[in-house]
Amino acid sequence: MMLRGLQQPIRDHDTAEFWSGCDEGQLRLQACADCGQYRWPPGPVCGACGSMSSTWQQSPGTGVVFSWVVVHVPLVPALADQLPYAVGLIELDEGIRIVSTIDGCAPDDIHAGMPVQISFDNPGDPVYTARPITGHTGARSQDEGAK
Ligand SMILES: [Zn+2]
Repeated sequence: MMLRGLQQPIRDHDTAEFWSGCDEGQLRLQACADCGQYRWPPGPVCGACGSMSSTWQQSPGTGVVFSWVVVHVPLVPALADQLPYAVGLIELDEGIRIVSTIDGCAPDDIHAGMPVQISFDNPGDPVYTARPITGHTGARSQDEGAK
């Protein structure tokens, strides 16, 4: 179940397009218009080449769990009735890692390298979560498999 009661995100010049995509159920990632490197978090300058030009690309939202924690104590009062829940670092196929809740499986079943899909449940609500999928090994694993 997607967490309820999270604060609305702060939308600034750099992140507005990301959150607008989430509102529409799309994962949009900022990429450098000159070298193609994805930027996370969104920002004005490419960390790879220094370019200040960027574009936005729609991502399929597939990746793998890189790391995670399972929250068992009520760190956020609004989420106290939803314990335990998992929050992880999701390595997207684009090579960047974003923070996301992880649901759709028992917290004990989450493991590093678990294939996931970023999902949106409610149109107009920017909250997203990562859910397990099958038949996907992640871009990094595919690269390693090719060697
Ligand atoms: Zn660049």
